[in-house]
Amino acid sequence: MDMNTSMPFLQQPRSLERCVTGRPTRDGAGVRLTRVLTSDLQQRLDPFLMLDQFGSDDPKDYGAGFPSHPHRGFETVTYMIAGRMRHKDSTGGEGLLQNGGVQWMTAGRGVIHSEMPEQEEGRMEGFQLWLNLPGKDKMCAASYKDIQSADIPEIRPVEGVLVRLIAGRVLNTSGAVDRPAQSHPTQVLYLDVHFERETFLDIPLPNGHNAFVYIYRGQARVGDSGTQVVDLHQMGILSNDGDGLRLHAEAGSRVLVIAGQPLNEPIAQYGPFVMNTTQELQQAVHDFQTGRLV
Ligand code: MN
Repeated sequence: MDMNTSMPFLQQPRSLERCVTGRPTRDGAGVRLTRVLTSDLQQRLDPFLMLDQFGSDDPKDYGAGFPSHPHRGFETVTYMIAGRMRHKDSTGGEGLLQNGGVQWMTAGRGVIHSEMPEQEEGRMEGFQLWLNLPGKDKMCAASYKDIQSADIPEIRPVEGVLVRLIAGRVLNTSGAVDRPAQSHPTQVLYLDVHFERETFLDIPLPNGHNAFVYIYRGQARVGDSGTQVVDLHQMGILSNDGDGLRLHAEAGSRVLVIAGQPLNEPIAQYGPFVMNTTQELQQAVHDFQTGRLV
């Protein structure tokens, strides 16, 4: 094993700026979920616009699903932990999202899609992240990609820690989605880290990239001092100083690590449309109402 990655190696781990507890809400046709990244954090966590967490054993919480609805100007990344959801969209795309799999949808100039549960009982759990597109790409062609769980690279940088690489490149390994910086300036890193025993893990993060963690099992400590606790179902926003993330967690903890280069562009949102200006939003609404979104 490479000693550079198996030992703590960061010179100055980023500190914890603040913890955020998600807000319970309902969306779609009444799906119960927790909105972790809310609109007031869009500037601070640029290029990320939203993070929703859903998790329930009760079909009343998820059964209605997300019937047909539009998007323009950004990407949605859905990560299923448990359960099955069927996606259909106006490009003709269709896929089944299930345990450990990811759907990466680029709405671009416009997509109309539905996300409906394909189960009447059992657990449904997962996340949906909204990732902004730079202004130059907001009107690109829509596309989507289903990534099966088996196609997500997994590494064990230290004994007792499994890292699933959904997107980006870290510790000399490419994630399932790894796009060139020239065409995708946000350079998103999206990791799911499973602690099978109590230990430390160092993850380098590029300077200036906004970054946060979300704890969905157990709890974790962040930073050099080991006293900065992020509790279960909390998001920990990392300071932008330092050379990476030092995580310390107990056996059974699971942590999403998400980072990206900010776009530093104006953000204008109206529901499922995210553009740079109010005028572009009005155009999106008009295009949708006149059947010209897609
Ligand atoms: Mn949607």
